[in-house]
Amino acid sequence: LGSWLDEARIAVRSLAEAAAGALDPTIRLGVTGLSRAGKTVFLTALVQALVNGGRLPAFRAYAQGRVAGARLAPQPDDAIPRFEVESHMRALTGPDRRWPESTRRISELRVVVDFEAASFFGGSRAPRRLTLDIVDYPGEWLLDLALLSQDFRQWSERTIATAEQPTRAPIAADWRAHLATLDPLAPEDEDAARTASALFTGYLRAGRDDRVALSTLPPGRFLMPGDLEGSPALTFAPLVLPGEGDAPSGSLWAMMERRYEAYRTHVVKPFFRDHFSRLDRQVVLVDALAALNAGPEAVADLENALTDVLAAFRHGRNSWISSLFRPRVDRLLFAATKADHLHHTSHDRLEAILRRLVGRAIERAEFGGAAVDVVALAAVRATREASARRGREELPVIVGAPEKGERSNGQIFDGEEEIAVFPGDLPADPEVALRAGGYRGRAASEEGGDLRFVKFRPPLLKHGERPPQLPHIRLDRTLEFLIGDALA
Ligand code: GDP
Repeated sequence: LGSWLDEARIAVRSLAEAAAGALDPTIRLGVTGLSRAGKTVFLTALVQALVNGGRLPAFRAYAQGRVAGARLAPQPDDAIPRFEVESHMRALTGPDRRWPESTRRISELRVVVDFEAASFFGGSRAPRRLTLDIVDYPGEWLLDLALLSQDFRQWSERTIATAEQPTRAPIAADWRAHLATLDPLAPEDEDAARTASALFTGYLRAGRDDRVALSTLPPGRFLMPGDLEGSPALTFAPLVLPGEGDAPSGSLWAMMERRYEAYRTHVVKPFFRDHFSRLDRQVVLVDALAALNAGPEAVADLENALTDVLAAFRHGRNSWISSLFRPRVDRLLFAATKADHLHHTSHDRLEAILRRLVGRAIERAEFGGAAVDVVALAAVRATREASARRGREELPVIVGAPEKGERSNGQIFDGEEEIAVFPGDLPADPEVALRAGGYRGRAASEEGGDLRFVKFRPPLLKHGERPPQLPHIRLDRTLEFLIGDALA
């Protein structure tokens, strides 16, 4: 009965929203991606482009001069924190040019866009208004959907088996060693639970390191706790229970199982019911370059994550998901971020690689319903292109200022000095890139130097440009896919 009531509530809400939006549309746009994928930077740049404009030729309504203006407005949900776009923008464009604080929880922002509908007959164009509610949330939370179909025993078994894979085994060793000392039938023990959960979280966190770059590491709140940090619902870890039977109440197993259930009931389900089910469109940001850097296992893990993401957006009445909520997303965009780490000749290749990955994930998830597209973008372009001589060859390079304190080959950068990097080629054949993992950047000045992980500072903006406009790659195409039809 509970889930039926939830469905009815969602249906009534959707009807009310549809009636209100018949003429002046309202779109609820989700922005997600794993931590460091680039959500905060993306959303800041997107809002900035809407409000301040910029070079946006592929964003048709804007290029045709039909966008009269856009402004921020009070958000509709009083219980969701506001996305602090102003302070993020100050960080990016202020005198010390910093990347903003990353997403750690859900937040929301409303942008109102006044536009003129396109007119086919040359008559007067009606003034219209698009209300865009943008919800930014950690991708880690989305991947928790998989937990809803696994009980504690199944989840424990799968998690322990996955931790045996070659890249995971070394980083899981400390947690596994502690796990081996635990007796699931012993009396419940808060200290043991806390130690196990801390070691398990340490393993998940190590999986997000640049060198490993794994994507599927649920439970998501262990990495992105939001405001639940330290609560019992996050203080559990997998256990091994031999045999078929149940463990007695009062045992360590029973305690961990209870907390796992609390996590599913009080954390995962409410997120899907209250936030996820209300989205109309979704952009999923993917740091595909990080996975390609780390190698084939990271790429395979990314593909698993994309499959899980698609499963969450799958339409249809028969899936067990629809007993909890009915996804209503009609447009889904996967975006490979930080394309400014590549020369423009490789942007299409990066897009092709992501398209191949998403295509395979679509098959595996038996996904149907929403329109899906793929783009390679840089929300904020931190580099520019040039060419440099290597031996007798003239080669394309990218130029930017590494962040203060970044190191490469014994050199420590001061944050001001610019360097040129051979960005490395992505293979033209996406299959080759996916099999090999494949992208290596090198400092033009230091043959063989490994600059894969150099972080560039945000770009120096044109002096005196007011309001400031951020350089980007394909942000306009992204806007066109996400909201272009609503401005037609
Ligand atoms: P979030 O955790 O998904 O919110 O990720 P952020 O938006 O905070 O981005 C994480 C980091 O990635 C930033 O601090 C930047 O170093 C880098 N980054 C994000 N977007 C871009 C981009 O468009 N270009 C470049 N060069 N770096 C970016």
